[in-house]
Amino acid sequence: MNKIKNKNTNKKRVGIIGSGPSGLAQLRAFEAAKNAGLEVPEVVCFEKQSNWGGMWNYSWRTGVGKYGEPIHGSMYKYLWSNGPKECLEFSDYSFDEHFKKPISSYPPRPVLFDYIQGRIKKNNVRDYIRFDTTVRWVNFNDETQKFEMVLDDLKIDKTYTEEFDYLVVASGHFSTPNMPYFKGIEQFPGQVMHAHDFRGADPYKDQNLLIIGSSYSAEDIGVQCYKHGAKSVTLSYRSNPIGVNWPEGISEVPLLTHFENDVAHFKDGTSGKYDAVIMCTGYQHKFPFLPDELRLKTKNNLYPNHLYKGVFFNNLPQLIYLGMQDQYYTFNMFDAQAWVARDFMMDQLPLPSKAERRLDMDKWLEANDKLETSFDHVDFQSDYIKDLLALSDYPDFNVDKVAEMFKEWLKDKDENILTYRDKTFQSVVTGTKAETHHTEWMDELDDSKERYLFQDENEEALEEIMEKQPI
Ligand code: FAD
Ligand code: NAP
Repeated sequence: MNKIKNKNTNKKRVGIIGSGPSGLAQLRAFEAAKNAGLEVPEVVCFEKQSNWGGMWNYSWRTGVGKYGEPIHGSMYKYLWSNGPKECLEFSDYSFDEHFKKPISSYPPRPVLFDYIQGRIKKNNVRDYIRFDTTVRWVNFNDETQKFEMVLDDLKIDKTYTEEFDYLVVASGHFSTPNMPYFKGIEQFPGQVMHAHDFRGADPYKDQNLLIIGSSYSAEDIGVQCYKHGAKSVTLSYRSNPIGVNWPEGISEVPLLTHFENDVAHFKDGTSGKYDAVIMCTGYQHKFPFLPDELRLKTKNNLYPNHLYKGVFFNNLPQLIYLGMQDQYYTFNMFDAQAWVARDFMMDQLPLPSKAERRLDMDKWLEANDKLETSFDHVDFQSDYIKDLLALSDYPDFNVDKVAEMFKEWLKDKDENILTYRDKTFQSVVTGTKAETHHTEWMDELDDSKERYLFQDENEEALEEIMEKQPI
């Protein structure tokens, strides 16, 4: 193994794992400080894929990638934002600035991917990212107080190590499937897969589909398959049903108990015959590159324990985790976290003692335990964002207004799960009211950026051409 000497020994070094929205937020935070004339540490971001964007960087592959690494992506064809874009807008880079015209509130994945890239392309942050590089292992050296990272350059099949003063883990937590076992499943004759490997609704046309789970993946994959022609969709819940007004063709049943060939039996004694099963049973926080004592161990919740301000690992605050919470807020929350983390790493934000940090975390954990409704969850994460915003110079935005929009969104979904994506909201960054999309979501079978952005222009251009044609 080659030991590469750090190029610049007097500058502090920051290692970032992952260039999804969280890792990119960290890079952008440093770039903002640099643009403000501040001296920033040396920053290196390691990304195992060949491009940035994390989940938003769609992969048609499942299983392993071209270098044999587990595929990270869990997104699929026809994936549209499942919350209003006004709730995730970067407050230092608006949708108006990027698209130069108002767009709808629920864009498809390629459009949001384009937006994420827009802010980053404006700065030179690509230079800080080493693509096709997997972080294989990290060790913290108590003597030197540095992180020793073992890195695999996948392209040239070379392993090397580097040292860093700070480590930012931005590797996401919706990639490693939680795959439960149900008796008899090994004899089920049809396809059984986890949502992580779902790449689009097309194969389920005319099929009777069984989905296990009752959260966002179950809801969205169920609705997508219904939209794209599945014969029936049955959702099987463990704790609570999703409980919205389902259209005919989608139904909810209690938890699956076992299979007898292609027949599934449920807790309430009912049963049904299915062609395929999709486990929408969530994901594991998995950090195979971290030793036990540095690893965040948590379920998917709004306030993972041991992270002061939701980011600093309390036993070793030089270890920073971004985006590890369950997420109502996404891009703007990652930004708020990254700005706070940056200020700590640049010695602009001293942290209180370990014991004081523990007390602060306990306060949040206690509040988290008392949450009951989805509205409570929204308010909790909104308070968390406000707490972060008060600590850094990330451009302020109206969090209360965003919380209202989340609540509106929850109501819209309850009212009509098939039409909520046709609603529009107002930006808290620019005040712009979103456009109504040119096609109702249920009729829109094409999720390409070109169709989304230029449909009207294309029609006009087409009309012009037609007009010029001799009759
Ligand atoms: P990720 O986007 O997961 O990025 C992590 C990055 O780390 C990846 O690029 C990965 O390759 C890299 N990485 C991991 N391990 C290593 C390693 N060992 N070495 C090097 N690199 C590594 N959010 C929304 O706001 N709206 C939506 O509509 C929405 N839809 C979603 C749909 C699905 C199916 C899923 C799973 C999530 C969705 N999300 C949505 C949430 C989404 O996770 C966040 O928007 C966002 O992508 C999280 O960013 P992240 O950077 O924290 O993690
Ligand atoms: P999740 O929110 O963590 O939900 C996991 C679900 O699996 C819960 O319903 C849970 O039930 C169920 N479950 C877990 N173990 C089970 C078991 N052994 N048996 C039965 N059920 C079990 O995960 P997710 O739904 O995959 O969502 C992950 C992220 O992806 C979210 O951020 C979401 O917004 C995003 N997403 C977005 C879209 C989009 O449209 N843009 C689409 C899909 C996903 P309990 O309630 O009983 O725990």
